[in-house]
Amino acid sequence: MQYAILGLLCGVMAYFYWRSQAIKKSAFTSILGHAPQPHNQAKMLALMNEIDRAILSNASFERVCELMCTQLHQYVPYQWVAISTFDKHTTPSTLITTLDGQTSYVPIQFEPALKARLDSQPNGYLLENMQAYDSLMPFEGLGASCMLMLPIYRDAELSALLTFGFADVAQVNTEVHGASSYFADRLGVVVTSVFRAKQLFYQEHYDTMTGLPNRRSCHQRLSLEISRAHRNNLMLGVMYISLNGFKKVNDIAGYMGGDAVLQQVAERLRSHLREPDLVSRFGGDEFVLVLTDIDGTVNIGKVAHKILDLLAQPFNFDELQFYLTATIGISVYPNDAQAIDLLLRNADTAMSRIKTKDAGSFIFYEETMNSAMIDRLNLERDLRQAFVNQEVFLMYQPQLDLRTKRISGVEVLIRWKHPKRGVISPMQFIHIAEESDVIDQLGSFVRKTACEQLAAWQSKGLLIPKVAINVSSKELKNAGFEASFNAILQATGVNPSLIELEITESLLIEEEGQLNTMLRRLRADGVQIAIDDFGTGYSSLSYLAKLPFDVLKIDRAFIQAIGRPSETHEIVSVMLHIAHHFGKRVCAEGVETERQLQFLKEKGCESMQGFLLSEPLSAQDFEQFFVKHQHQPVQLSSAV
Ligand code: C2E
Ligand code: CA
Ligand code: CA
Repeated sequence: MQYAILGLLCGVMAYFYWRSQAIKKSAFTSILGHAPQPHNQAKMLALMNEIDRAILSNASFERVCELMCTQLHQYVPYQWVAISTFDKHTTPSTLITTLDGQTSYVPIQFEPALKARLDSQPNGYLLENMQAYDSLMPFEGLGASCMLMLPIYRDAELSALLTFGFADVAQVNTEVHGASSYFADRLGVVVTSVFRAKQLFYQEHYDTMTGLPNRRSCHQRLSLEISRAHRNNLMLGVMYISLNGFKKVNDIAGYMGGDAVLQQVAERLRSHLREPDLVSRFGGDEFVLVLTDIDGTVNIGKVAHKILDLLAQPFNFDELQFYLTATIGISVYPNDAQAIDLLLRNADTAMSRIKTKDAGSFIFYEETMNSAMIDRLNLERDLRQAFVNQEVFLMYQPQLDLRTKRISGVEVLIRWKHPKRGVISPMQFIHIAEESDVIDQLGSFVRKTACEQLAAWQSKGLLIPKVAINVSSKELKNAGFEASFNAILQATGVNPSLIELEITESLLIEEEGQLNTMLRRLRADGVQIAIDDFGTGYSSLSYLAKLPFDVLKIDRAFIQAIGRPSETHEIVSVMLHIAHHFGKRVCAEGVETERQLQFLKEKGCESMQGFLLSEPLSAQDFEQFFVKHQHQPVQLSSAV
């Protein structure tokens, strides 16, 4: 890339050098008149060549300016000369040089009216009343009564200004004007090349949308900071920040809205961190911070807290307001890693670890995360393949109606026979499926297989009263869920009233609006809704009245405590009581002992499921189990 910049610069220079030869001639004629003095002419040529050489040799902008400022007065009778530069990435600055060689940099901000005036006089603006513009105050008292301002444009934008202050307006004759223009032109060459180099540098090192340093800059800065921290025995904190819910902004407000929010994020981060800390954007909704001079991880934690608060404040775009949260993964130098890549990767690993589970919080990297992460990635890859290789299948766990003692239904449970690891519990892979898009494939497979199995049993004359299917909250939030489920029902000819969907209570509460409407529609078609694992989520019984469901499944943790010396059985009584109060049925999960069964029966629990009745069975085994109990009540114990 460096070669490319160099090549480009040389190209630009060569062009201007060629052009300058033509200009030199005409400048001469205007400066020195028709009969140039040989002595002056030689000196002038020498200066022009020196300036050109400086430009071609890639001398710094400052060097060329210095050459001009110190030598020009031999040809232009000024009191002072000033070179102003306007660059949108830095504050405008003006270098003033007076006749006695004194130089000073002044941050002059030219007012829009003056800029407009310059635009209207691109060949030079001779200003006789310097008091007309406030911004020209720094030029007063330097011995000039008028000034000649020569604007330099780049891409139709004012990029620099060469200004001469003259003691008397009469000094500004055509010759002087011509010489001045010549030098302004040379200055234009320098400004253009400097600007191009700067622009290329900017594009390579900065994110143009937010103006923050990019990944490359962050690497370079981190490398410097690591050496410094090593020398001074200090710590560094590397934070990987990812926004949650950013996609929603793009969906609702379009890319303009998304960009505006990212700019606001950048601004908040930049303005709330200390000067030496680095804020960079790695792309998308991911930002990386490097905290320097840290003397303990507690302080890094405090900053993380502050950032979470900062980004939890609403973002505005047009009339819209967005609430986002952030997830932060942190790695610490030298504790977690000493190399740049590893520090960044560890922070990223830590962030990904909690992104889906614990969005809106921060976590420090731990060594165990990497192996867990690799394991998880392998499992995700294998899971995608599992559907192709038909390693996934369903098991069926019977449910018993405690009043009629008949099989009241069956819960469908997924299994994965991994080629190397053997049969894997859904507890180990459902969350992986949920964190990737595999969950949609998994869910469709379960619903389709379950409905096909039910239809097959029906065609054999086995009238299974109900099939309960687990649905992940992530699937339910998917807009296509309802249509795809209805399509399966239609294709298999299964009556919706034979299907019960098991969902978790937290989902119902969080997603109240739209989801509840969909569930109400499904229920209107006859589909039953069960709240799974009840008691492990919000456990707020008062919500029950509002929610659209039919069955409450009390989590097995509560059932298994029955008979143990605790007060949990009291909770089970209350759950049953309240569910009945709201007209809902209750199914007890994980019933393993006769004592638990007895208790549930006494309290009026409608149905149960658990090892006491049966473990999950293969389709074939369930079929036999059902046939066996189809015409006679199930006898679990003498007490029941
Ligand atoms: P769950 O919905 O609570 O399913 C009941 C779990 O309890 C099953 O575990 C079942 O084998 C186990 N179980 C049943 N009776 C007893 C008992 O008496 N004692 C004990 N200790 N355990 C019992 P499994 O099959 O490992 O499923 C675990 C979880 O995975 C399920 O919990 C459910 O949340 C999820 N899952 C299973 N299949 C699917 C599926 O097709 N889709 C989705 N989204 N999730 C599923
Ligand atoms: Ca379940
Ligand atoms: Ca459950």
